Amino acid sequence: MFYEMIGFATSQGDVTESHLPEIDLDKAALLLDFDGVLADIAETPDQVQVPDDLPGLLDALVERTGGATAVISGRALAVLQDILPDFKGTLMGCHGAEVAGAGEVRGYAPPDARHVAAVIGMVQGYGLTDPAYAVEAKPTGVVLHFRRKPELRGSAYRFLEAAIHDLPGFEIHYAKMALEIRPAGVSKGSAVERLMQDAPFAGRRPLYAGDDTSDEEAFALVNAANGLSVKVGEGDTCAHFRTPDPATLRAALATLIRD
Ligand SMILES: [Mg+2]
Repeated sequence: MFYEMIGFATSQGDVTESHLPEIDLDKAALLLDFDGVLADIAETPDQVQVPDDLPGLLDALVERTGGATAVISGRALAVLQDILPDFKGTLMGCHGAEVAGAGEVRGYAPPDARHVAAVIGMVQGYGLTDPAYAVEAKPTGVVLHFRRKPELRGSAYRFLEAAIHDLPGFEIHYAKMALEIRPAGVSKGSAVERLMQDAPFAGRRPLYAGDDTSDEEAFALVNAANGLSVKVGEGDTCAHFRTPDPATLRAALATLIRD
């Protein structure tokens, strides 16, 4: 059974024409990226604005899904907890390397803290070479943002490659306007895989919404599990559905609650 919903389209289709398979929130698991999905992307990560309607929307989604609502972000868990202080679902930070849910904080794949500190120090130093860089330190690695000057990507990559050359266990990941050093094996795909094994997520139909290349692995997993993958914004994707921006996604999620 299908019904129309404003703002959704199959990812190959016209964004203004909208079809989304019916989602029964009582049987769904909602897996939602934060930046670019629930909130608009800001020029630097610390400038993000939490939309007024978001905390109430998330509360309602957590309740309707029996707690099976997660925010899965590349940001550090502590930062997410600051941004969404009253969120009662599961928060996953650092692409799933940090998890907080049901009153419990768990970590996965803890990297060598000395190596993390060394990498952060090097990238912070390098970040001073151009005022357009913004450096985001995390418990598991570091992000070098260059949204204000995209042409810095090449030199940023070369620096990061050299920085981790002799440090085992790290990888460079591409994001829209940033490059990230993180522990090998940590990804939103493996985060979703783990999350879906346990209550309250296990046995539910996953809906994953993301906007960036780091979300593609999670889209593929959710597709394979007969779930719903939703790409927010433009760009190539393996997601089956697309919505143009965070405001439209929030409106669509709000409609689900009213049904
Ligand atoms: Mg994002």
